[in-house]
Amino acid sequence: MRIGFGCDVHAFDENRPLVLGGVEIPHTHGLLGHSDADVLLHAICDALLGAAALGDIGRHFPDSDSSYKGISSLVLLRRTVVLVRERGFEVENIDTTLVLQKPRLAPHIHQMVENISNATNILQSCINVKATTTERLGFTGREEGVAAYAVVLLRDISTHRRDAEVAEKTGS
Ligand code: MG
Repeated sequence: MRIGFGCDVHAFDENRPLVLGGVEIPHTHGLLGHSDADVLLHAICDALLGAAALGDIGRHFPDSDSSYKGISSLVLLRRTVVLVRERGFEVENIDTTLVLQKPRLAPHIHQMVENISNATNILQSCINVKATTTERLGFTGREEGVAAYAVVLLRDISTHRRDAEVAEKTGS
């Protein structure tokens, strides 16, 4: 097994939609960014890339590349999972925390989990999204932006494959 950790922050801006976990959430502000600024999915991508020792999201999907302007981060997540699978890993589970004062996310969590499940092709029962406030403390508490954290486990299927081949050859 391999563990990965990801963390991301985006600032609020008046003239943007708020997209979290691939869900457009009604709010007075959205998040600034080159893509759709989906801070939750960016943290997940970084956790996946981290676990596979593949660097970070900026290396694979750079801001300087205009083809990523305004792109749905669900597309980036889908591509990240392809990179991870090409390296010989399967995603075991994903756990995440969004940190923000407002808006309340409870009504949208299920749709976020469904979107992440569709993009990663893993079971919804292996994906967790939760949200917390910081009791009005810090930049999230002042509603200046949103932070997201993610941890993932990857299963090294290339090792399993090697083990299976060895077992077959030795008859064990
Ligand atoms: Mg980001």
